[in-house]
Amino acid sequence: MQLLDGKLVSKSVKDSLAASVENHLRGGGKTPHLAAILVGDNGASQTYVASKVKACEEVGFRSTLLQLPGDLPEAVLLHRIEAFNQDPEVDGILVQLPLPAHISEHKVIETIRVEKDVDGFHPESMGRMALGLPSFLPATPYGILLLMEHYQIQTKGRHAVVIGRSHIVGRPMSILLSRNDYPGNCSVTLCHSHTLHLPAICLQADIIIAALGQPGFLRSDMVKEGAVVVDVGITRVPDANRKAGFAIRGDVDFESVAPRCSYITPVPGGVGPMTIAALLKNTWYSCTHKKT
Ligand code: NDP
Repeated sequence: MQLLDGKLVSKSVKDSLAASVENHLRGGGKTPHLAAILVGDNGASQTYVASKVKACEEVGFRSTLLQLPGDLPEAVLLHRIEAFNQDPEVDGILVQLPLPAHISEHKVIETIRVEKDVDGFHPESMGRMALGLPSFLPATPYGILLLMEHYQIQTKGRHAVVIGRSHIVGRPMSILLSRNDYPGNCSVTLCHSHTLHLPAICLQADIIIAALGQPGFLRSDMVKEGAVVVDVGITRVPDANRKAGFAIRGDVDFESVAPRCSYITPVPGGVGPMTIAALLKNTWYSCTHKKT
């Protein structure tokens, strides 16, 4: 069994980006700039946004973090996004999800200009991705592809099972793995909460992407010997032994599953850092491929 070490690979992505940014600035280029918007005081969201801002600093990007109150009217949020849309200094805009219930995620995502949609959630980005046209890829699935690429995981002709069909992870992951590309060319089964015989389906998988948000869901009796297992799950579970009062758990029962795998991601240190690396790559692309 070999670990798919997201911490290591994201560092190498960041090192290479930092070198490119340095070159770009030396040649008179503009500093890549990510604008992040956080609405409300969800603890996990605060942590994720803080990591993204810190990663921007590490590679020499500029970042702007706009923290807004949870009871903010939707129209005000849309107005703030519009201001970033119009600002030529801003290359990428991300609005941290989830949003408070009174704000429509769809409206927010559709308000972001597609050229600055570095999270890749805009319907146009999604459509282009599905068609295999150049577009921003959603950060988490894109990060997983980068990880697979780094470890040269064989995907062609393999059966990939994706558990979870959210718009930000499972569904785009299933589309990307089915594309005629590398990593891709898989036969994909997309599972969700209504899937019958899920353990039997998982047992047929060469590659399993677990993205359902149910800690320890994937057990060893659902995994074929030699499978590649990618654990997207991040759930905070109470843990009195930790200073923070919680531990992070993935969707895979790592202890029992790992011995059966050829490759597996740890949690933390797997998909999480790769999501941030992918976001940085999208922002870099946006900055350096501006439409005039
Ligand atoms: P969502 O809650 O939006 O979607 C969960 C999906 O899992 C749904 O499609 C749901 O099915 C399916 N599901 C839930 N329970 C089961 C079950 N028992 N059997 C089969 N399918 C099930 O979650 P997200 O996609 O946003 O996130 C998934 C996990 O990944 C979370 O832990 C999240 O924190 C984590 N995450 C991690 C990221 C990272 O960078 N590492 C980034 C984004 C998310 P249905 O559609 O039928 O309801």
